[in-house]
Amino acid sequence: MQGRMMFQPLLISSLIEHAAQFHADTTIISKNTNGSIHETNWLEVSENAKRTANALAALHLEHGDCVATLAWNNHRHLEAWYAISGSGLICHTINPRLFPEQLIFIINDAKDKAILFDKTFLPLITAIKAHIPLVKNFICLEPFDADVAKALPEVKFYDELISGQKPDYVWPTFDETTASSLCYTSGTTGNPKGALFTHRSTLLHTFAACLPDSLDLSANDIILPVVPMFHVHAWGTPYAAAMVGASMILPGPGLDGDSLVNLIDEYQVTVALGVPTIWQSLLAAAKQSGSKLTTLKHNVIGGSACPPSMLATFRDVYDCETIHAWGMTEASPLGTVNRPKAKHRKLSVEEQAALRLSQGRPPFGVNVRLVNEENGTHKLPQDGETIGNVQIKGHWIIESYFGKEKNSLTEDGWFDTGDIASMDADGYLHISDRAKDLIKSGGEWISSVELENIAMGHPEIAMAAAIAADHPKWDERPVLIAVKQPESTVTEADILDYYEGKIAKWQIPDKVIFVDAIPLSGTGKMLKRKLREEFGNVLLGENA
Ligand code: ADP
Repeated sequence: MQGRMMFQPLLISSLIEHAAQFHADTTIISKNTNGSIHETNWLEVSENAKRTANALAALHLEHGDCVATLAWNNHRHLEAWYAISGSGLICHTINPRLFPEQLIFIINDAKDKAILFDKTFLPLITAIKAHIPLVKNFICLEPFDADVAKALPEVKFYDELISGQKPDYVWPTFDETTASSLCYTSGTTGNPKGALFTHRSTLLHTFAACLPDSLDLSANDIILPVVPMFHVHAWGTPYAAAMVGASMILPGPGLDGDSLVNLIDEYQVTVALGVPTIWQSLLAAAKQSGSKLTTLKHNVIGGSACPPSMLATFRDVYDCETIHAWGMTEASPLGTVNRPKAKHRKLSVEEQAALRLSQGRPPFGVNVRLVNEENGTHKLPQDGETIGNVQIKGHWIIESYFGKEKNSLTEDGWFDTGDIASMDADGYLHISDRAKDLIKSGGEWISSVELENIAMGHPEIAMAAAIAADHPKWDERPVLIAVKQPESTVTEADILDYYEGKIAKWQIPDKVIFVDAIPLSGTGKMLKRKLREEFGNVLLGENA
């Protein structure tokens, strides 16, 4: 017998409808590409999203077409992304930091019919235009701009395009498993691969992301998504903010520490989200300016492991509770979040601090298991010690990559994340590494993340990456590539001494190499592959 409750498909348009109706005057602050501030609210965002949906329909874009955005976090991008997904088109958020060849590949792979872009990215568009013949509409997310019009004669301007439209659009109803958005992983090897999300997966992910044991979001919050909307939907915050009716501060292109500190202080941000490299520069800027980041209640760190020293600084200096989360594009992105349980209140301060370093446990909706080999199915114990390959399953986890017939799952239906971790009985996951970054020394594994975390605890180290260098006797040995704090005179010997007593002797790096900067990926992660290409040979010829 069927139940007798209403059925409503879970659609992204319902989020913006809700925010417009019940949080109409809640503020959205947006930094424009030229640095000026625009103030709007959920009602205006919703009305402009409807105007945009009308404008896109007038361009003959059809249900299921991909429409790309190449933009910073700003209000026009927010309006456009609700317009695109809400009207049944697929919002392809492009990472502008990809190489031009990769941009061309993903735009053609997605068969994007239109691109909405920020003025900043005009040079990118003009450089690749000849190679993306399917794109028929170029829309600049600005009012009319003579420079842009000169460089790209066929361009349309967002403000002009929507100004003639009425906010009378009625969001269509369709199957909740319809594709809503497309995001490519940065593709550290080979071509990027697309994750195609559904309206249903997005809504369920959003419910879970808002929970107190996840990002703990509410109508009381002022959210600063530093993580870009092109990096897995800014970890879902624009959806979550609409669901709970939170205020948002969209930082535009200014992601330097000073700009972020200013935004936090000026707009009383309560929660901000970003990768560790962002927080590194924010902490330096806060120290310099003397800001205490008074309103910041939570900072969400994910994308790579959160160094323990960073967590301690936020807690002790800024009275801000770090939420450490683990995820990936293929998981929409939320996989696990570190929030304590009631029983942890009994733990000592040190024990609690140690617990908070892990990547946390899954919310309802994601299941996690450890297995003994990549794509294997033999389950390992959840004892907090055994290390294995992390596999996930759930309502917002990928089944197959965009355009690929074959599903990407193990034979019993799990997605292998490529990460290596231990997991305790409560599901707290401790990621040791990405499988490809582990260092194999004489048959024993060394976690590069652990070596980096220790180095980052040294007050004179600004950034550190541990890589596997080829070794004639041990196969691989760890080498630390490090950036000093400004004006530091720290030496290799100082750093090697610093490791003493913190890990087993044989795990201490063989060498420390100081560099001016560590190359970062499009999503702000250290490009260890590049470092391995450059420094992977430094131990050959030595210690033979
Ligand atoms: P890519 O970096 O390839 O573009 P993602 O942005 O989807 O892909 O990154 C996913 C990967 O980032 C995870 O598989 C994991 O290795 C790493 N990662 C994400 N969050 C954390 C975290 N909190 N701690 C350690 N590693 C993390």
